[in-house]
Amino acid sequence: MKKSTTTKTVVVLARIQFKSDPRKVCYLVRSSNGVDQYTTCLFDGFATGCSCPATNGKCYHRCQVEALEQERTRNAAQAKTELASIPLTPVVNDCRQNPSTRATDMVLQSAKRRQSAPLAGASRGFSLMR
Ligand SMILES: [Zn+2]
Repeated sequence: MKKSTTTKTVVVLARIQFKSDPRKVCYLVRSSNGVDQYTTCLFDGFATGCSCPATNGKCYHRCQVEALEQERTRNAAQAKTELASIPLTPVVNDCRQNPSTRATDMVLQSAKRRQSAPLAGASRGFSLMR
């Protein structure tokens, strides 16, 4: 039951991504004393600074936040790749990416149904043969 490392684990309170430049990201982290908060900033996935008192250039916030951000970027890239590999998914506007593919599937399916039974819906609307 011995600890393998004595490394502190950074506690992330918030992640702020700058709208003006998405490469710029700041993490609000909890200090290891549990009271203070520090701001660790990244640019393009690499730590550029931290507001904690460590002045040696590499505090554990910077290391771990960097790792978190890289993991996040990897996941996002992977998700994008997986989405792109789904066939028949129309490319939609970036801002509307989230209406789930389920809705798209339903549209595609009903379109297919309409094609396979072209008279089912139409004949009811235009039943002039009575
Ligand atoms: Zn720090």
